[in-house]
Amino acid sequence: MDTNLPVSANPRVVIIGCGFGGLRLAQSLRNAPVQVVVVDRNNYHNFQPLLYQVATGALEAGSIAYPIRKIFAGRKNFYYRMADVQRVDPASNTVVTSVGNIRYDYLVLATGSLTNFFGLESIERNAMQIKSIPNALNLRSFIFQNFEKALLMENPNERQALMNIVVVGGGPTGVEISGSLAEMRKHVLPKDYPELDLRSMQIFLVEAGPALLGPMSEASQSDAKRYLDELGVKVMLNTSIKNFENCRAYYSDTEYIPTENLVWAAGVNGAEVPGLPAEVVTRNKRVTVNRWNQVEGHANIFAIGDLANMVTEDMPRGMPMLAPVAQQQADQLGENLMRLLRGETPKDFVYKNKGSMAIVSRNKAVVDLPGNVHFNGILGWATWLFVHLMTLVGFRNKVVAFVDWAFSYFSTDQALRLIIRPFSRRDMKDDKGKKRDEHRTSTPEYNPTPPAIQAEAESRA
Ligand SMILES: Cc1cc2nc3c(=O)[nH]c(=O)nc-3n(C[C@H](O)[C@H](O)[C@H](O)COP(=O)(O)OP(=O)(O)OC[C@H]3O[C@@H](n4cnc5c(N)ncnc54)[C@H](O)[C@@H]3O)c2cc1C
Repeated sequence: MDTNLPVSANPRVVIIGCGFGGLRLAQSLRNAPVQVVVVDRNNYHNFQPLLYQVATGALEAGSIAYPIRKIFAGRKNFYYRMADVQRVDPASNTVVTSVGNIRYDYLVLATGSLTNFFGLESIERNAMQIKSIPNALNLRSFIFQNFEKALLMENPNERQALMNIVVVGGGPTGVEISGSLAEMRKHVLPKDYPELDLRSMQIFLVEAGPALLGPMSEASQSDAKRYLDELGVKVMLNTSIKNFENCRAYYSDTEYIPTENLVWAAGVNGAEVPGLPAEVVTRNKRVTVNRWNQVEGHANIFAIGDLANMVTEDMPRGMPMLAPVAQQQADQLGENLMRLLRGETPKDFVYKNKGSMAIVSRNKAVVDLPGNVHFNGILGWATWLFVHLMTLVGFRNKVVAFVDWAFSYFSTDQALRLIIRPFSRRDMKDDKGKKRDEHRTSTPEYNPTPPAIQAEAESRA
């Protein structure tokens, strides 16, 4: 297959991935004397921080995605190819893709990250993840499908397992999704399922560490925990889920939570592209780069964003996997590519931390700003909404998200609960596109998950 890219007198910059980093870099090269080729397996840019809202029916998928071709419409030096990049061949300056080979003068890897299951096979096979729009839509369908099934169940143990939801990972994604599910339990599910006793539905947030929101301030950590407690989410700290099969999420060899619904938000690895030497790929599959985002030992290959492992004195474990890091590295790399073309020395990347935040539910969010500034509650919530609205790509998406949020706020309802994409675990595919086994539902013995779990976990800390 030929990728039909025109020959240009200008050097060609190939960018793999049009997420936060790749999109920003392609935009920053708008007036540069280069031909830009963007390759992404999806024909849209995905705003991942709002995926959990798609999963819980608060936002339509279309309002957090934007077509790549529309972003760059009318631009002369820009080409997009929808393809899966399979391998890089640095010796011939070529990337091998599902639609043919593409030659590059400069290559930028901006492939982001993939869910890390830490080698726990039963979890990888059976858990839901939330890294992409299809993942979020599957999760949304799966929860509502299980409620439909719960209605038909005579066995109370099976009914309970269908209704319980376990979220693993107490970072921003885990906190946000469990808060949102708790709101759904309070406002949406009782209206839709009056025949079910929603008081018995339990939402667990399980975190291996001693606190939620690990990298945030202690004030944010304790505020988030308090908000979740108030919403009735059972937070289990210092606890790890090690196995998930037959509707049981095991947190020790014998103790488990009965559930059909396990959402894994416990970590990510770099989305490595094969072909680079093993010594530049770290244990969590990030690619080692210098302060110019140049891949070690490769003058014309760069990596940015989640994939890039840039170690600095103040960040000895590498830059955090956050959207602003990807965007700031893209801005700096855009400038540095121009410097390299002019024969000048590139500038070192310096991360400007503008703060972090997490939303728990309506009127409840936590925000940390540089200089130890912390705020919470309705001010934090309004800040979170404003920042996310402003950073969504596309005017229409901003308007649609604003209208959906306003509707949910005033009606305490979420409009989006159609099961238009019925999901079965048989449909699950692993990263290589192979279908996974179906998770077997069998009648679990009911373990009413003693309220002492948390006290016990805390005493183990
Ligand atoms: C649920 C969730 C919530 C988050 N919340 C926040 C938040 O609140 N704040 C924050 O700052 N960060 C948040 N993050 C992290 C943030 O989204 C990432 O740090 C950011 O997306 C990284 O940008 P990136 O450009 O490196 O990769 P991405 O944005 O992930 O983009 C990677 C792109 O590469 C494409 N791709 C990957 N491999 C290939 C291949 N082999 N071939 C072709 N295309 C490929 C993908 O399709 C994708 O479009 C969240 C992430 C998730 C999953």
